[in-house]
Amino acid sequence: MKLKVFFAILLGRAVRLVSRILRRGGTDMPGRLALKLCPELLSVLARDVKSVAITGTNGKTTSARMIEQAFSDLGLNYFANRSGANLISGVTTEFLMNATLTGRPKKDYAVIECDEAAATKVFRQLKPRVVVVTNLFRDQLDRYGEVTHTLANIRRALQDAPEATLCLNADCSLTSSLALELKNRVVWYGVNEGAVPSRAKPVLSDATHCIRCQAEYEYSYVTYGHLGGFRCPRCGYSRRTPDYAVTDVVAQRLDGSEIVLSVRGEKHTVDVNLPALYNVYNAAGAVAAVTEMGFAPESAIRALASFHCGFGRMEEFRLGKAGARMMLVKNPAGCDQVLEFLQEVHEPFTLVVCLNDRGADGRDVSWIWDASFESLGALGSRLRRVIVSGDRAADMHVRIKYAGIEEARIEEQRDYEALVRELEGEEVPVFLMPTYTAMLELRQAVIRRVGGAEFWE
Ligand SMILES: [Zn+2]
Repeated sequence: MKLKVFFAILLGRAVRLVSRILRRGGTDMPGRLALKLCPELLSVLARDVKSVAITGTNGKTTSARMIEQAFSDLGLNYFANRSGANLISGVTTEFLMNATLTGRPKKDYAVIECDEAAATKVFRQLKPRVVVVTNLFRDQLDRYGEVTHTLANIRRALQDAPEATLCLNADCSLTSSLALELKNRVVWYGVNEGAVPSRAKPVLSDATHCIRCQAEYEYSYVTYGHLGGFRCPRCGYSRRTPDYAVTDVVAQRLDGSEIVLSVRGEKHTVDVNLPALYNVYNAAGAVAAVTEMGFAPESAIRALASFHCGFGRMEEFRLGKAGARMMLVKNPAGCDQVLEFLQEVHEPFTLVVCLNDRGADGRDVSWIWDASFESLGALGSRLRRVIVSGDRAADMHVRIKYAGIEEARIEEQRDYEALVRELEGEEVPVFLMPTYTAMLELRQAVIRRVGGAEFWE
């Protein structure tokens, strides 16, 4: 076994070295080949590392970066995987790069973002101390199938990690249901009623009916999507009282939010250095995770104020006279959150929507008809113009037109270089809304022109 581990690590390292020289496949291939040689390699490498894992549909990367910031501020000896390396192969690559050739870890802690579909393979070997499940939304159907299938996957994965403390989103009826059948210790986080102006009923819901008995949920309030104070009138399944509760969102600005977070009854004022309500959820989940890893909640709270996410998550660029922000969208719920955020922008702006339909985006772009682009109409003259781009720019063009934006304000520009050049002269703030693969290309075009943090992949 020991010899096998040694050769697997050696192989992984060698492949990694070669792939970095060739500048391709740096995160996936080393782990994949090493696992072929030693299928249990990850469990050997992860045994003495205290890991926190983050899974769920939306907000994994942001949550992971928030936790990472807290670990960094605490001076912990840790490593983390990047969003592109969240399958077992990528996770294994990270571990083998942070171990000695005999398989002893060089770091004490790990922050591991894990794809929902890969969780069953990863958790069995990783044995995380703490697992955050952010939420469950319907993703592109051709990627993971039904949302309940994803839920079953995560449940199975957690059955193999019974020692893990779970930080669950109390406002998500799907995520919440994990606690019904698992024996793990569970702590809850959420946004309480009255913390934000809320709706009485979900507008876009991926979970209208009770997961236990199929009766229609009743809601005391809704924050977004199907998140909020759900209750089943037939079987009584309902939202749990969060241990980490956002009791007030004092201010929501373009550059962040000020919130009041109650940690087991003790109130803290928290500056979240990222705008939009979905990041308030990510912040609460991150505080829960750091605290459950055994650190004071204050260490996570301080980190949130200085935190920068980057890589398409509200990332800022010096593009145009008033700057640009990039906001990755990958499903209707996430898209609606970005559209809702735009409602809070009180000055004129330009919107760029880039729609691709490659593997990581989802092949089927019909989801754009589920998202509430209609809200753009309510912006009136604040919305200067919409530029559509990406492989499926034409589909996006039609969608924007049907949302009630007149043709004169819609432009199509498929060439990212030309798009970036045009935006350089823009007087008003620019918001860029790309799908995943569109983000990778657009971001490169922007950075080539105006600079920005290079992502190492
Ligand atoms: Zn029920």
